[in-house]
Amino acid sequence: ISKIGVLTSGGDAPGMNAAIRGVTRYAIEKGLAVEGIIRGYEGLLRHETITLDRRTVGGIIHRGGTILRTARCLEFMEKDVQKEAADYLRSLEIDALVVIGGDGSMRGAQALSHCGIPTMVIPGTIDNDMMGTQYTIGFDTTVNTVLESINKIRDTASSHERVAVIEVMGRNAGFIALYAGMASGAEAVLVPEHEVNLPRLCEHLAESHRIGKLSSIVVVAEGAAKGTDVVDYIKEHTYLEPNLTVLGYVQRGGAPSALDATMAGLYAQKAIDSLLAGTYNCVIGLIGRRIAATPYSEAPHFHFPISDNMYQLVHMLGR
Ligand code: ADP
Repeated sequence: ISKIGVLTSGGDAPGMNAAIRGVTRYAIEKGLAVEGIIRGYEGLLRHETITLDRRTVGGIIHRGGTILRTARCLEFMEKDVQKEAADYLRSLEIDALVVIGGDGSMRGAQALSHCGIPTMVIPGTIDNDMMGTQYTIGFDTTVNTVLESINKIRDTASSHERVAVIEVMGRNAGFIALYAGMASGAEAVLVPEHEVNLPRLCEHLAESHRIGKLSSIVVVAEGAAKGTDVVDYIKEHTYLEPNLTVLGYVQRGGAPSALDATMAGLYAQKAIDSLLAGTYNCVIGLIGRRIAATPYSEAPHFHFPISDNMYQLVHMLGR
């Protein structure tokens, strides 16, 4: 191969820029030309591209978001649209496409590979919920952002002897809630993977309060319950005063943590090395202590859900 394309797609995540930089510079180091595609699959259909060199990706490793911008593109679900995109990539003489994004973006990359374009996915999503990897770029930064917020909220919660309910991102997976809950010493976490039992939560909170706890933190993943519903339930069924913080988009922004910026570079290297070795249609990821390139078809065998032990442990330690 002599030329690759790179795009970011789906929800943005801290560290995507570090990945773009890593892909671009490592590819150039190996003698490849790099074409950036703006706004994900949407930009691919609109023919929005920019040639990347060492300098165009300078000064971005520490910046949140993505300089290539990102988009969601419903049209891209259609077969003939995917074929059109593949033809366009061929017309640019792009031999392989590196896609930085989440689950949906991986399905898009898979669709392109069915149209004859070699693709490679670098996992970039704050949710940490992709097959073929135990770690997605953006997750550590987000957990740290959430942790910082919780610590601030706790200060006022304990002054007022309150229950602080904090709603975080995670529609299908509870990684953010679980890790932020663990690290902040939350009383309870509600995640989509486990049944939400509000009566038990209330008992738990009331008991803690009875034995002298000044404040309680409850972290709720958006996919498990609505924060407002949890607060209303606690209000109705206990004498406690819960308040709600919905963290929203602060969770997606910010400079990448050391871990995210580092993983971005290592994933980028693996992606390019694999392509150069003739391996493609894979998702790059951390499996155990190894960075692997796993074919899309095998990725479902490498599915790493949240740890049951950690879920139990948060509740044991939080009392
Ligand atoms: P993420 O990559 O963060 O999970 P999305 O689920 O929104 O984000 O997916 C990003 C984009 O990937 C979608 O807007 C769409 O263009 C493309 N995509 C998602 N699923 C498919 C699919 N099954 N086939 C083709 N393209 C898809």
